[in-house]
Amino acid sequence: QLGVNRSTVILAFGELRSMGIIESRPGSGTHVSKYKWGAVPKHTPNWKRYAEGGSFLPNLPFLRRIREALQQNPDLIDFASGELSADLSPLGEITELMGAQPSPSYLGYDHPQGYMPLRQAVASYLDRYRGVQTTESSVLITSGSQQSLYLITQCLLSPGDAVAIEDPSYHYSLPMFQSAGLRIFGLPADEGGIRPEEIRSLVKKHRIKMIFVNPNFQNPTGALLPDDRRGKLLEIASELGLPIVEDDPYSLTDYDGLDRPSLKSMDRVGSVLYIGSLSKIAASGLRVGWMVAPHSIVERLADARQQMDFGLSVIPQQVAARFLESPYFEPHLERLRMQLRLKRDLLIDALHQALPKLIRFHVPQGGIHLWCQLVPEVNDAKLLEEAIKKGVVFVPGSVYGSDSGYVRFTFGRAKAENIGTGIAKFAEALRALIR
Ligand code: PMP
Repeated sequence: QLGVNRSTVILAFGELRSMGIIESRPGSGTHVSKYKWGAVPKHTPNWKRYAEGGSFLPNLPFLRRIREALQQNPDLIDFASGELSADLSPLGEITELMGAQPSPSYLGYDHPQGYMPLRQAVASYLDRYRGVQTTESSVLITSGSQQSLYLITQCLLSPGDAVAIEDPSYHYSLPMFQSAGLRIFGLPADEGGIRPEEIRSLVKKHRIKMIFVNPNFQNPTGALLPDDRRGKLLEIASELGLPIVEDDPYSLTDYDGLDRPSLKSMDRVGSVLYIGSLSKIAASGLRVGWMVAPHSIVERLADARQQMDFGLSVIPQQVAARFLESPYFEPHLERLRMQLRLKRDLLIDALHQALPKLIRFHVPQGGIHLWCQLVPEVNDAKLLEEAIKKGVVFVPGSVYGSDSGYVRFTFGRAKAENIGTGIAKFAEALRALIR
């Protein structure tokens, strides 16, 4: 009888292996290595294991494939990237404002909530365009809506918490929710977005802690939540004491320039955490966004933010503050809306021409996304690969939580003159699969 148990032997082998004294190779067993006694063994860290560790899940395979295809072939016609083309961004205005900027008086760590003149500019922007009355003390500057969402999921929720999101939704494309250990539940959405009454049964079943909505020209469907549903959503949330995250990057792209009321502006009890961004109305590369929340929440998030990165660089915040307050802002918005409407029309005309009867969609009144249902049944992955071969990319609908057979075409990024060609290429890819 050996007085050693099995796990001790396994541990001892592991130790000898990590010291380089023994080596194991699949198929040839374990041997004493050519270890020089007294010499210090050299080991490269097991980077693969580290890379697979940590709490972040990798991005979705379709999104990684699209990014890789765009890197390999910059000439692909891009209906996938959710951003504006260079000609729609106010590059000239921003360059001029950068040049006219007085040099900063101090370049140290700034206030944890962000650069004061930008917080003031955001407060007056929100009053003017979103009907939200707030002060700079309730504004937190972030590096975009993505970071606002990250702060909310990491700091205000705990692993295991259940949250409700629209189905389909941009948020399905974010492993961020799963990385935070959240359980996500979809609220089915039609062309008018979610039906708020459905929140009640979801809450009963899953003890929902927070609701995430993108009520204006939603990503990916382009849906605009009607006023009565907005009222109902707020009513139910306040009845249940549930916070709503209003993710609002697209509202100012309304082609008719209509000021639809933000949920935050209708919020009488303080249920709404509002997040906004310059990404879809100016430039995604500026990485400037904001959040408006009760002061205790802003303080908590600003504190967490300090631990993460000590805040966004002051330079883009200065540029953003100047741009929001400049006489360029309003004419830029008007031009942007006009150009986006034009691109939407080009896309729709091209789809009618190239794929009559094979594709269905609702025409969005703002934003940069067109959500389409394909009439023939095709496999998402095959369609994407075929489209890449033909020279065009789009995002398969399953990325946003829907069944296969849907696609999202984003028309912010592609150049107007390429939209027709891009859709002709997509049509070739689709027809190749249904032949
Ligand atoms: N929310 C929605 C609904 C979006 O569409 C996007 C960008 N695709 C974001 C948040 C993140 O945008 P950003 O961080 O650039 O502000």
